[in-house]
Amino acid sequence: MEIIVCLRQTAIIKEEPKVQSDGKTLDLSGFNRHLNEWDAYALEEALLLAQKYGGDASVISLGPGEAQEVLFYGLAAGAKRAIHILTPDQQHIDNWTIANVLARVIKKGSFDLVMTGVQAEDDGCAEIGATLAHLLGIPHASLVMRVEYEQGQNAVKVDRELEAGYVDSLRLTLPALLTIQTGISQPRYISSMRLRRFKKSATITKVSFEDIVSEGEGPSPREEVLGLYPYQPEASQVEVLEGSPEAMADQLFERLQSKGVL
Ligand SMILES: Cc1cc2nc3c(=O)[nH]c(=O)nc-3n(C[C@H](O)[C@H](O)[C@H](O)COP(=O)(O)OP(=O)(O)OC[C@H]3O[C@@H](n4cnc5c(N)ncnc54)[C@H](O)[C@@H]3O)c2cc1C
Repeated sequence: MEIIVCLRQTAIIKEEPKVQSDGKTLDLSGFNRHLNEWDAYALEEALLLAQKYGGDASVISLGPGEAQEVLFYGLAAGAKRAIHILTPDQQHIDNWTIANVLARVIKKGSFDLVMTGVQAEDDGCAEIGATLAHLLGIPHASLVMRVEYEQGQNAVKVDRELEAGYVDSLRLTLPALLTIQTGISQPRYISSMRLRRFKKSATITKVSFEDIVSEGEGPSPREEVLGLYPYQPEASQVEVLEGSPEAMADQLFERLQSKGVL
């Protein structure tokens, strides 16, 4: 089974980032970066499936030069090949374009499964997986928490996480795309020594973003960021009760009763 895992490098946001002067983008220049948490689980699941059923996992990432770090991580974890779609630094590329370019590059090779994380931890849109499946013309399942390959049927059986403790069990004909939920397995530990070794010796195939865009009709951006601002919760929605525990309990009872809850 040939599996392609999409890896994204995301900023580690530990303190509040500033909005840039354009009022539309965050200044993340001072933040360290790492492999998107969901992608570490997608990578692990791909490696386990390849190990169990035969085949290889490859990794692909679209981003500026520093994004190659996640690809070295993927190779050190056990991926056989890595493709870096190199984008210009500091350029905002919308999700429609990212998915289009990923799809064009993925289509050049053969694959049975494409895996992405459910979401990226920094910008939270969950668009890439579903859009990519659409562009590749293959079925997809989101929030996947278990995968089983059905060799005889050329299919995968997957469990999807639903709200309220329910599980959705599906069979998808291959090729298919899965967006992987955290916790599906435990990502393996990669020592810094092993990572350094791969950075010195491993090969990453470089592809130019502009070259891929120019192959055929350009994927024109379809969304426009109008503004970005800190969320201000409405203070009127918060009421702090005061007094003794008994007095607060009485007040709480009155509030709930007046709202018809009790
Ligand atoms: C902290 C946090 C908590 C949230 N909690 C909830 C919640 O409780 N309930 C709820 O309903 N929603 C929640 N959301 C919102 C929800 O998760 C988002 O709407 C959405 O899931 C996130 O999409 P995304 O844009 O980050 O994913 P995408 O950008 O679509 O990324 C998904 C995957 O696509 C691939 N990918 C993306 N870009 C690239 C690239 N350049 N190169 C290669 N691969 C790539 C990666 O595999 C990645 O993991 C939360 C969001 C955040 C940030």
